[in-house]
Amino acid sequence: MIGNNDKILKENIFVKSKDFIMIAGPCAVESYEQLYDVAKVVKKSGANYLRGGAFKPRTSPYDFQGLGLDGLKILHEVGEKTALKTVSEVTSVKYLEQVLKYCDVIQVGSRNMQNYELLKEVGKAKKPVVLKRGMSSTINEWLLAAEYILSNGNYNVILCERGIRTFEDSVRNTLDISAVPVVKSLSLLPIIVDPTHACGNKDYVESLSLAAVAVGADGLMLEVHTNPEKARSDKKQQINLEEYKRLVEKVKKIKMAMNKFDL
Ligand code: PEP
Ligand code: MN
Repeated sequence: MIGNNDKILKENIFVKSKDFIMIAGPCAVESYEQLYDVAKVVKKSGANYLRGGAFKPRTSPYDFQGLGLDGLKILHEVGEKTALKTVSEVTSVKYLEQVLKYCDVIQVGSRNMQNYELLKEVGKAKKPVVLKRGMSSTINEWLLAAEYILSNGNYNVILCERGIRTFEDSVRNTLDISAVPVVKSLSLLPIIVDPTHACGNKDYVESLSLAAVAVGADGLMLEVHTNPEKARSDKKQQINLEEYKRLVEKVKKIKMAMNKFDL
C-alpha cells in the first residue's frame, strides 16, 4: 500500500460515508434547460452528484470546447435548484479558481492525469477531486498521480477507471475491470468506474455498469443527455433519461444481490 492510510481513513469523506457514489449528467453543459431536465431525472433516480463539462478537452480544436465560465454558472445554479452536488473538469491551473468557486467536486481528466503542476494545485485545494486514469497509464502511475494530490494535503480523492487504450478497436477504450480489485489491494481510496468513456457506445454502458458494481466499484460516473443524438459532444456514448432510469434499477438489484451474499 502507498499513501497515508490513517489520513485517508480520517479525512476522506467518501471512505467515511460509504455511500455509493453516483455521478450523472451530460458530457458538456449546453444550456440551462438541457442540464435542468437531466438533473431532475437523475436526482429522482438516486444520483448524488451532477456532472457537466464546462471546459472540454476535445481531440479536435474545431469541436465544441464547452461554455467555460457560463457553463460553470449554469451547473452551479442547477445543482442548487435540484440539491445535487456538482462535478466539473478543470483542464488547466488557470481555470482552477473558477471551477473551485462553482463546483463541489473537481475532476481531473484522463488527459491531465500526469499534469503534475495541476495535481499539486488541486492538492492544495479544499474540495474533493475525481482523478481519472490516464488512457495509457498503469495503475502504479495513476496511484502516484493521486499521491501528488494527497501529499499536498487533500485526502478527498476518488479514483475513476475510464478505460485504457489497447489494440481492440470495437470499443473506444478497453474498460480495465481488474483495476477495481487491484486498486483496492493497493490503496484505501475509493474507486469508481466511468463505463461511458470506457466503451464510447451507449449500447454497452448498462452491461459495463453492472459489471463495475459486481466487481466492487464504489460508484459510477455516467454521461446522460436529454437527446444524445443532438449532443454537442460525445453523442454516441451518452444514454438518455429512460435508459438511465432502467440502468439504475438494475444497479440496485446487483447491489441487493451482493448484500444478500455478504455473509
Ligand atoms: C469527461 O469525463 O468529461 C472526460 C473528458 O473524460 P476522460 O477524461 O475520461 O476522457
Ligand atoms: Mn464526454
